[in-house]
Amino acid sequence: MDKKVRVRFAPSPTGYMHIGGARTTIFNYLFARHHGGSFVLRIEDTDRVRSTKESEEAILRDLRWLGLDWDESVDIGGPYGPYRQSERMDIYRKYAEKLLEEGKAYKCYCTEEELEQRRKEAIAKGLPPKYDGRCRNLTEEERKRFEEEGRKPSLRFKVDETGGDIIVHDLIRGDVSFKRDVIGDFVIMRKDNTPTYNFACVIDDHLMEMTHIIRGEEHLSNTPRQLLIYEALGFEPPKFAHVSMILGPDRTKLSKRHGDTSLEEYRKKGYLPDALFNYLALLGWSPGGDREILDKEELVDLFSLDRVAKSPAVFDMGKLNWVNGIYIRKTPDDKLLELLLPYFKEMGIDTEGDKERLLLITRALKDNIEVLSDIKGKSKIFFERPKISKEDIKEEDKEVLRLFIEEISDDVDKNPDKALDFLKKYLKKTGKKAGKVLPALRIALTGEKHGVELNWVVAILGKDECIERIKEVLS
Ligand code: GLU
Repeated sequence: MDKKVRVRFAPSPTGYMHIGGARTTIFNYLFARHHGGSFVLRIEDTDRVRSTKESEEAILRDLRWLGLDWDESVDIGGPYGPYRQSERMDIYRKYAEKLLEEGKAYKCYCTEEELEQRRKEAIAKGLPPKYDGRCRNLTEEERKRFEEEGRKPSLRFKVDETGGDIIVHDLIRGDVSFKRDVIGDFVIMRKDNTPTYNFACVIDDHLMEMTHIIRGEEHLSNTPRQLLIYEALGFEPPKFAHVSMILGPDRTKLSKRHGDTSLEEYRKKGYLPDALFNYLALLGWSPGGDREILDKEELVDLFSLDRVAKSPAVFDMGKLNWVNGIYIRKTPDDKLLELLLPYFKEMGIDTEGDKERLLLITRALKDNIEVLSDIKGKSKIFFERPKISKEDIKEEDKEVLRLFIEEISDDVDKNPDKALDFLKKYLKKTGKKAGKVLPALRIALTGEKHGVELNWVVAILGKDECIERIKEVLS
């Protein structure tokens, strides 16, 4: 690559950070880091009605949480700023003026209602619903009359229909061609003198010296329009790569119907950022081979656009959970406890109190949780006395349970090794096989048939609580 790579992610702050957008951001990030280039975050807030500050902040926060960092943006500035489109209005107006002067754009006085009416008519006649070009050649009088009527003009780009098809050379899809005559003269400046997406995007991508545009497939149909603007302004276009969309398990576009789609919801549920990063990086891209667990450095090292899939990727929650579980197990115990504290708090547990016991619970359940919030269900047995029905404990079990109360030693508290020693001794004393004793003991202590190793249960509950629970069963 000759020029220094510069790529950007350009969210519109009109909502939450979507999981699909996060994947596109990751691809941009990996591409930039792989090539030692720059990764820019630009805020596309020209839609003044729908853009909000809260959304912008949430997007930055969630992307930072995911482990992304950028070299230039609204928060840290940079040599190509400002990075918020609402602060670049003068720039867009200047280029709009230039196109107008050169006769490459013209003022259009048609009202929304008129346009809508004509669109409907065209569709009814089976024609493409493109602008019919009626304001292209207005006379000075006509223009004056419209102005006097109080009509505000938008600015339309003149599409020269005599050229051949417009070809997008896409790095993922190959050449994609678009018919010129269906595009129609399109608006580049709205009636309120703000730029449309296609116009602002081209100006910024050019001025910010982007070398590659990696974005979602839904923008592929915008690219021919953008190419026309590049050409009209005499700008060299960057290279394009349109990433396929993400589908739900039913092979329709991933949406709320399929479950969570916002990054924030994944954070709250207790997905680890590195796990989600790993999973999303491999959603529609493969480094070759069958490795599924790769850390950020490896991903940076291996990333290339030519292994990004043309076909859509299917979001597999089961696989994401599996990946997350692996990252949970890779997390050191004390670090994991810190991550679990908010969930313990949600359970109403005093997390400032007995940290040592919480750490034991963390260690005991580390293998059994896939997302952090699983801890709430799984650890309940340690905080709430189980409800045990009569059928669960048989008469003959009661004898061994009584013996347990008599025998339990003082040193089991918070000590799984000592608890194991005790259980072995106790088992011997009962004179019965483990299979005859331990299931009943487990039910009595936890209300469950399976779960955490019993010595851990005993150590976490401690001697007194074990005795209390068994007494309840016996009474
Ligand atoms: N603001 C556009 C969006 O959020 C960016 C599209 C692009 O990357 O060009 O979809």
